[in-house]
Amino acid sequence: MGSKPKGTGDGAGGRRVGRRAVLIGGAAAAVGTVALARDELGRLWWRLPGMEKKRVEGELDHKGAEWTSAARANWRRADRPDDYTIDRVVIHVVQGSYASALKVFKDPSHGAAAHYVVRKDGHVAQMIRELDVAFHAGNRDMNERSIGIEHEGFVDRPQDFTAAMYEGSARLTADICARYGIPVDREHIIGHVEVEGTDHTDPGPHWDWDRYMALVRKARAKLG
Ligand SMILES: [Zn+2]
Repeated sequence: MGSKPKGTGDGAGGRRVGRRAVLIGGAAAAVGTVALARDELGRLWWRLPGMEKKRVEGELDHKGAEWTSAARANWRRADRPDDYTIDRVVIHVVQGSYASALKVFKDPSHGAAAHYVVRKDGHVAQMIRELDVAFHAGNRDMNERSIGIEHEGFVDRPQDFTAAMYEGSARLTADICARYGIPVDREHIIGHVEVEGTDHTDPGPHWDWDRYMALVRKARAKLG
């Protein structure tokens, strides 16, 4: 665990400061400050005013999804994958219908929402941009490093997990894995139940991981 922003402020940078300090003597302290700041700037420049990625209302990360925004209180603005590496996909089951998921994720008092919701017919809604941190895993580190996918249905009703839903979700997960270079395996594609410290049990014992992972691998292979 522990996905931290890329880059470090120590190491080679510090040694370069040392050599320059010898050359220019009295100005060493000032140069050191600048050189250390440079490493910080190397990963923070996009947070300066006007340097953030352009955002367009309704823009989608997954082609074919339908945009319908979650309440602003249920996610945190970020600039992934530049500020946080994205290396996990977290699979959820709503314990309700597709419509109920959209409704609660649009409710600012709910305090949680996922990036995507997949319907039984395979239709995908995107509610939060992948560059932002969605509050879906109940674990800050996992939220910062992951993309959350909710699925319509109930954990104790295997019939809710339709072929169309598995396929639509697998295409979405494969697309995410392709775009961020995430390995298609069970270390990187996990259930909410597997998140450290969670008391959630979804997607539950009826979620067919073997079937799902085979579909993700197949869809991923098609993307090249
Ligand atoms: Zn969940």
